[in-house]
Amino acid sequence: MYENPDGVMIGLEVHVQLNKLKTKVFCGCSTDYHNDPPNSHVCPVCLGLPGSLPVINKKAVEAAIKIGLALNCKVEEHTQFYRKNYYYPDLPKGFQITQYDFPISSGGYITIEGEDGEHRVGITRAHMEEDPGRLVHEGTIDRSKYTLIDYNRSGMALIEIVSDPDMRSPKEARRYLDKLRNIVEYLDIFDGDLEGALRVDANISIMGGQRAEIKNISSHKGAERALLFEIVRQKNVLRRGGVVVQETRHFDEAREITISMRSKEEAHDYRYFPEPDLVPLKISGWAPAIKATLPELPDSRRMRFVEQYGITDDHAKALTSELKVAIFYEDVAKKVDPKLAAVWVCDVLKGELNYRDLTVDSFKKEHMQKIIELLAGKRITEDSAVDIIRTILDKGGSPDQIVKEKGLLKVEGDIVATAAEEAIKENPQAVADFMAGKEKALNSLVGAVMKKTKGRADARTAREMLLEKLSRVSQ
Ligand code: ZN
Ligand code: MN
Repeated sequence: MYENPDGVMIGLEVHVQLNKLKTKVFCGCSTDYHNDPPNSHVCPVCLGLPGSLPVINKKAVEAAIKIGLALNCKVEEHTQFYRKNYYYPDLPKGFQITQYDFPISSGGYITIEGEDGEHRVGITRAHMEEDPGRLVHEGTIDRSKYTLIDYNRSGMALIEIVSDPDMRSPKEARRYLDKLRNIVEYLDIFDGDLEGALRVDANISIMGGQRAEIKNISSHKGAERALLFEIVRQKNVLRRGGVVVQETRHFDEAREITISMRSKEEAHDYRYFPEPDLVPLKISGWAPAIKATLPELPDSRRMRFVEQYGITDDHAKALTSELKVAIFYEDVAKKVDPKLAAVWVCDVLKGELNYRDLTVDSFKKEHMQKIIELLAGKRITEDSAVDIIRTILDKGGSPDQIVKEKGLLKVEGDIVATAAEEAIKENPQAVADFMAGKEKALNSLVGAVMKKTKGRADARTAREMLLEKLSRVSQ
């Protein structure tokens, strides 16, 4: 049972951008702006020009329902949009179209691996809203001399997912974010690699204090760091006899600190009222049809992998924690030994990719299949398999070609036998030591065999042959 000594309570508000939709949420502007110049994907609606009227994007509503269902939420029968009023240059209308009462879905949960095993984090609500424009500050926000505005992002469909304050440590917050991203990636409505695809605001309080809201967190690691900093800061305030006040703070990623921005606003400060330009939406009846099209989600895929391929739960978890990797593994496992494939994809390939900051897209599954076939047939050693993977990643090529060029095919039994005989002849001291009971002396003989065969002998075979020959010597 996790004690939570500081009484840490963390709740997260995550904005997921539906960047795989073709158009923005209330206008026909294309969402494909990421490589284009600033302010080139705009129209009167997303620029907030007077007299322009929003029209709801049906696909965005469907995606929102998908997310609600995947997060175990209840989907409303009727949903409605509201205006959230505040003035800021990233919001050209002076209000944001969002939801307030009657959000599209609410009351769900996500299961994460918590401080004390499986832990459920409640989902308060998941609602639709429009993305504001993007502000680009010169240098850091508190010292910036000027700010640039790009409205390409203005009006992109967002789903804001608000959690209950159920996380008890920065680590749990990070796991929650990993899991949430994992789930929405499986739904195929968002590309997490695009700039601004998933943005996090964190609310955190410790025992005896009010909560602070931290904005501008752009990565899962950043969230963990910001929260760690905030716990220390709040504890220090209380220790000095001060009061932790409710406020909004900005996370400065470069310095890994949070900076006070303003006292936290309350909902009534925003003067929410129903959006008169959009009628309430009757969505009863949509959910069952969408539910039927919901893809297999990470948790069920993980359980299926364990059952279908007989792999460990840890491997299944690592393989399903990224959709691309899960698909890669399954394609490979169809043609070769799935257990061996799990080991080599999880324990070797993933590590080599991470090390080079690459994704699984950089490796052909046919190549992985070939390598596993060679291993399963005992044609190459494990060291050679690692060598092939590294060579492909660093220099390109195919397994067959690399095996040929480097002469990696394992040597036959009689060549190992000859090498073992030679090793015994050439290392009388090691042989004598071994005979005198120094078991470790065998390792240097195995080493000699490997050297003679240029590492292409199987170490276990070499060991067995040496033992067999040595037993004859002693007779
Ligand atoms: Zn537009
Ligand atoms: Mn929001």
